[in-house]
Amino acid sequence: MQVITLGTGCPLPDPDRAGPATLVRTAGLNLLFDCGRGVLMRAAAVPVGPSGFTVVFLTHLHSDHVTDLNDIITMQWATSMAASPLRIVGPVGTAAFVDRTLAMLQDDIGYRVTHHADLNWEPMVEVTEVTDGVAWEADGVRVLAEPTDHRPVHPTIGYRIESEGAVVAIAGDTKPCDGLDRLCADADLYVQTVVRRSAIEAFPIPRLVDVLDYHSDLAEAAGTATRNRVGTLVLTHPVPPPPSGSDLAAEWVAEAAAGFAGAVVLADDLQVFDLSS
Ligand SMILES: [Zn+2]
Ligand SMILES: [Zn+2]
Repeated sequence: MQVITLGTGCPLPDPDRAGPATLVRTAGLNLLFDCGRGVLMRAAAVPVGPSGFTVVFLTHLHSDHVTDLNDIITMQWATSMAASPLRIVGPVGTAAFVDRTLAMLQDDIGYRVTHHADLNWEPMVEVTEVTDGVAWEADGVRVLAEPTDHRPVHPTIGYRIESEGAVVAIAGDTKPCDGLDRLCADADLYVQTVVRRSAIEAFPIPRLVDVLDYHSDLAEAAGTATRNRVGTLVLTHPVPPPPSGSDLAAEWVAEAAAGFAGAVVLADDLQVFDLSS
């Protein structure tokens, strides 16, 4: 199993970090988790094309995590030689969100169907909404979902991928909670969106300080990793984002490592994690 952090950004635009998106490659499948800003650009570097995603999983419907779903829907459709559905799995509310996205795309869909004689179908999507339990299963790969705590954003879910003797937890935005612990139990790799409390509290801007309410800070991510005996803690979606490879980035890792004895990595875009059983 291979995990690639396609995009490690947050809502704040950053020249080096695309929006949140993580690709899990296993058993010949490409499972995408969230689809933030620039996801198809980063996937092209792997390379995985717009039709290459087996399933798109969403953790929640905050714009930074789903802003390029419309791009995936459009390009999966417009580059396919035959009608084939895009499979999307997400929390309750995903079906309505996808319907509204398709409504937004209606003009473009009309332009392309009118222009291309061999494109005589509209985008097809298959949406599954999940709360907990098995979210998707095929070819020896099992993806489990659990509710997470990103209130007032609700409902939100995280995922646990079990395949080829390895376990990966992809948390999304969440505070520590029981659902997150179940996702992370004995996981080889735990990918957590994080914020740095001291850096945020240094800027008394209410709208920035608010993000502390519903994200894991570094100590909380480390606590979740320790409590659940994970192998490697991967920090992503850092707020505020430190420059890659900087002393500041090293401080983030050191702060998390103070509460977790395993490996800690502050991920960059397109960083590859190879897991063997
Ligand atoms: Zn986010
Ligand atoms: Zn969020």
